[in-house]
Amino acid sequence: MNMGMSLTLAQFQFEELASHLFPPDGCEAVAIVLCGRAESAYGHRLVARKVVLVPYSQCSVRRPDRVTWSTAILLPLLAEANKHNMSLVKIHGHRGFDQFSAIDDESDRELFSSIYGWMDQDQPHGSVVMMDDGRCFGRVVAPDGSFEALARVTVVGDDIRVFDAPRANQGVPEQGHRIAQTFGKGTYEKLAHLRVGVVGCSGTGSPVIEQLARNCVGSLVLVDPDVVERKNLNRILNSTMADVAARLPKVELARRTISQLDMGTEVLAFQSTLFNREAARALASCDVLFGCMDSVDGRFALNKLASFYAIPYFDLGVRIDADGAGGVDQVCGTVHYIQPGGSSLLSRHLFTMEQVRVAGLYRTDPGEYSKLLGEGYIKGVNEDQPAVIQLNMLIASLAINEFLARLHPYRIEANGDTAVFRVSLSHGIFAGEPDGLPCPVFKRHVGKGDVEPMLDMPELSVGER
Ligand SMILES: [Zn+2]
Repeated sequence: MNMGMSLTLAQFQFEELASHLFPPDGCEAVAIVLCGRAESAYGHRLVARKVVLVPYSQCSVRRPDRVTWSTAILLPLLAEANKHNMSLVKIHGHRGFDQFSAIDDESDRELFSSIYGWMDQDQPHGSVVMMDDGRCFGRVVAPDGSFEALARVTVVGDDIRVFDAPRANQGVPEQGHRIAQTFGKGTYEKLAHLRVGVVGCSGTGSPVIEQLARNCVGSLVLVDPDVVERKNLNRILNSTMADVAARLPKVELARRTISQLDMGTEVLAFQSTLFNREAARALASCDVLFGCMDSVDGRFALNKLASFYAIPYFDLGVRIDADGAGGVDQVCGTVHYIQPGGSSLLSRHLFTMEQVRVAGLYRTDPGEYSKLLGEGYIKGVNEDQPAVIQLNMLIASLAINEFLARLHPYRIEANGDTAVFRVSLSHGIFAGEPDGLPCPVFKRHVGKGDVEPMLDMPELSVGER
């Protein structure tokens, strides 16, 4: 499924725009957003990189229905867009009027014909309206002056706000009735048109995938390199001894289950880690990401991908400290919600860069890893930890509930209060924590979109597998 053309803003960018576009004088104002892009066979996402507010003083006309501004401010932005193959999006505010006006049509045609004249490449540019109630809609303006509506504008913050272009009324199929009864037809339809990426299809990934499919999510991107083994049977849903014998890849097991459910969810399956260009490109096309991995380097890379492409990211972690002889010291799990420009798994101290480096060595050069480990130069990565289905399913359910609460806010507490949600079954903890300070390492990547090498990681270059 190609998701069409969309725009994603991070919450901090949205807030900067909203306060500029709705000044107290009630007149229109305008801003330019430079956007990185995620372009693939799966869709074309514009991802806000840089917000440039056109000063009120540089507008020759500002009225409640019209703004005329000097395009001199565009020149350096055009050069920057040209150099980095980025898109320009003009954004202005409307109060109460939720469509483009005839004046907008005229000014967009004029503005964008000169913008296209400037550009060496053929990346698309667009125009977006932000409403005074926060809703956003937009369109791509083609070089010939024709308009095509953006399929979706998303604002990613504590809440995940999805504004879809109107589509033909398709009704709710019976398998979706109870979801629509709970959250309404609007949220059912959002779910039915979302693409969600899940990296890791084993312990916590398997129950996450099951819940996403049964919530009628439109499209899943599943990434996992491994096959089903006998040791997995205690916790991967729907796995059987026959799958072990057949060495069925975990992503294929998930695909088979979802196909047999026949509830309409499309599956893109990649039997690989996310250190694979094709898998990473499919993940970059997603609206939401779930990280269900043990590996530190995988988590680091997915956090990076979520920043480059401004995708909300849920990280799941479980931990059991047991002595192997029945003594259990600790049983706990955490759901981390990461938003673009907020704190990161790194700034939350889930791991250090040294651990990321060691995990990368373990994955790419096992011989060297063993040598350094044997010589005592590095601390080893955790392998084959204790794992049980009852803890995995609890944490997977918490993550799905976090996701749904952010897509369709319903809690008394604000969503910002549970950026981290910790559970300890051994110590009786069940508590949320707020986001904390932005991560300087990841915030600078927000909205970069497609670059070469992808994510600035040489192993994701063209030609690498
Ligand atoms: Zn307008």
